[in-house]
Amino acid sequence: MKKILGTTLTLLGLTVFGQAKEDSIQFAKISTEILNKGKAYNELRELTKNIGHRLSGSASYEKAVTWAEQKLRDAGADKVWLQEVMVPVWVRGKESLQIKTSGGKWKSLKMLSLGNSEGTGGKDVSGEIIMVRSMEEYDKLSPEQVKDKIVFFNYPFSQTYIETFRGYGDAAKYRSTAASLTAKKGGKFAIIRSLSSAFDDVPHTGSMRYQDDKKIPAVAVGSTTADELAELLKSQKITAKLNSNCGMKGEKLSHSVIGEITGKKDKSVIVVGGHLDSWDVGEGAHDDGSGIVQSIEVLRTFKNLGIQNNHTIRVVCFANEENGVKGGVMYGKTVKENNEKHLFAIETDAGGFTPRGISLEMDNEKRKQIQSWADLFLPYGVYDFKNTYSGTDLYPLHDLGIPTAELVPDSQRYFDIHHTEEDTFEKVNRRELLLGASTLTQIIYMIDKNW
Ligand SMILES: [Zn+2]
Repeated sequence: MKKILGTTLTLLGLTVFGQAKEDSIQFAKISTEILNKGKAYNELRELTKNIGHRLSGSASYEKAVTWAEQKLRDAGADKVWLQEVMVPVWVRGKESLQIKTSGGKWKSLKMLSLGNSEGTGGKDVSGEIIMVRSMEEYDKLSPEQVKDKIVFFNYPFSQTYIETFRGYGDAAKYRSTAASLTAKKGGKFAIIRSLSSAFDDVPHTGSMRYQDDKKIPAVAVGSTTADELAELLKSQKITAKLNSNCGMKGEKLSHSVIGEITGKKDKSVIVVGGHLDSWDVGEGAHDDGSGIVQSIEVLRTFKNLGIQNNHTIRVVCFANEENGVKGGVMYGKTVKENNEKHLFAIETDAGGFTPRGISLEMDNEKRKQIQSWADLFLPYGVYDFKNTYSGTDLYPLHDLGIPTAELVPDSQRYFDIHHTEEDTFEKVNRRELLLGASTLTQIIYMIDKNW
């Protein structure tokens, strides 16, 4: 009996070892294929240089839809289709912010209105600036102190966190709530220090929300402008003048783009995706053109290597992540209505930088199983499986109980350029981008084989 048990264990050990070896060979094939023959970098060049930034509701977004449809076909998808979704249309228009000391001349500041903000309707709106460094400080101000003022929320992006997404999360409430908080106490508009890890004069846009009907403007300035303003305010009164035309212009019919290769064993779905829209400045290269071309690369690699996928592998290029998440919500709604079985969904929306890990939002058993594959990923520099969040577009799927995940790239440079005119193709490194596509393909290969 003892001997039989020993033999069984040995055989089991050999089988496990044999599988790990087979998997590591497959991992190497995937990586070699993508690093040598991957098309993601060239496709990113096309998307960013031929189409450029592509905010929901814009003509360039619709061009990106047609482009993504074609790229999915070229990559070898069996089926490609568009999913209809109504998206908000927000338009920036002309904008300017100036400041003046008493007796001084008007001086223009580099600025961007925050996404979804209303403007001044093309009129000058001016007032004295008061600065706060935190929410706590703002809460202490009385409505009399804020009335008719311009509130400058000078909250710095924390440099302490190694994972910069934590710094971003920490500062995000200033962007989303500054306008409504200012309006509640009678202020005219809000200026925020950008959610930026850089020490430069690049303003970062990004979405804000109104909590009620008092819709006053909110704008962002770069870090050095914020510091200069703070320095000036130490010794004198400053007047700010805003003139902007931005605002919501209703809704429009738009589309997410979906392509898949059908499962050989069953039709349950594994999703990989990113968002096709971007902010209306820069080129949306890291955010999230990278995620789109990496996701398409996954599908192409399965085809090119002739990997027989058990389950359907589906690429979703989500519409409207930046200022509404309508594409993600519609996708989740459709999955629910059609009762379509999904095994796993992963998003790549944290920049096309060197992959370091995969964040896993799922039950412990599944998380542990994926973590047990860590040794396979280690030769590719991918080691971090501890985080428990997933992509914004995937929350509706997570709410349905579907295991979701997000690619975790190196985050040191992302918030230097996120939502800015600096998010351009030139900031993306070919090898880093392709390594991310390789990690995505490897994890999907493992899920497809084992789940
Ligand atoms: Zn994004």
